[in-house]
Amino acid sequence: MSAEDLQRYEEFLGERRARILERIQASAARAGRDAGEVMLLAVSKTVGPDEVLCAWRQGYRAFGENRPQELTRKLAGAAQHPEMAAARFDMIGNLQTNKINQVVGKVALVHSVSSEHLANAISKRSVSHGVTTRFLIEVNVSGEESKSGFTPDAAREAAERLAGLPNMELMGLMTMAPAHDPDAARSTFSGLRELEVELRGRTGLELPILSCGMSDDFQIAVEEGSTLVRLGRTVFDPNYALA
Ligand SMILES: *Cc1c(COP(=O)(O)O)cnc(C)c1O
Repeated sequence: MSAEDLQRYEEFLGERRARILERIQASAARAGRDAGEVMLLAVSKTVGPDEVLCAWRQGYRAFGENRPQELTRKLAGAAQHPEMAAARFDMIGNLQTNKINQVVGKVALVHSVSSEHLANAISKRSVSHGVTTRFLIEVNVSGEESKSGFTPDAAREAAERLAGLPNMELMGLMTMAPAHDPDAARSTFSGLRELEVELRGRTGLELPILSCGMSDDFQIAVEEGSTLVRLGRTVFDPNYALA
């Protein structure tokens, strides 16, 4: 993008952000919640480091990436701007065990721990790097075959073991809802919330994070208790119509 286009794009980001925050506010109010409990993660996977810098300047503080290679590119971009030193990056996408080194010690939170095998591998790398990795258990609440993650029963069964892994800190749960189906999205989010309450009992942990809600369904997610929405298109795509 030319400097002029980038300037115009940054203005769009700022205006859009204000509208997103209004929606979060209104959804929280409908549920009798405080909007301050809901963190907004800007999913930057489809844009470049320049656009991430614009988003930072417009007030976004936390970014989500779904591929280790792209995460590395964004971290390198952010490192060129001292003003972005406090920027937070999370890993939200499927992670292969051979890519863990690109993620451990570099992100604030791994949302997508979708198997015990992966959790064990991240734990090992965290020990050898001398870091603690905060993570969420990804749960396939809706049961769609296309989705990765623990079944709710498998999450119940594994939660205490996962919580006890060396150099790992279990912070909560994450899910993705079925697309284009608001009712299914709502029951997916409420199911995740109920499972989290149950796992608090089983593990004795606080489990403060419920990561759910994307561009199409974040308002429903906030009504159902989400504490972290992961928004990509509605943040970064001028052609995406915010409902
Ligand atoms: C891409 C992605 C998002 C953001 O999706 P949008 O519909 O663009 O808001 C959220 N979570 C995960 C895991 C993603 O891969």
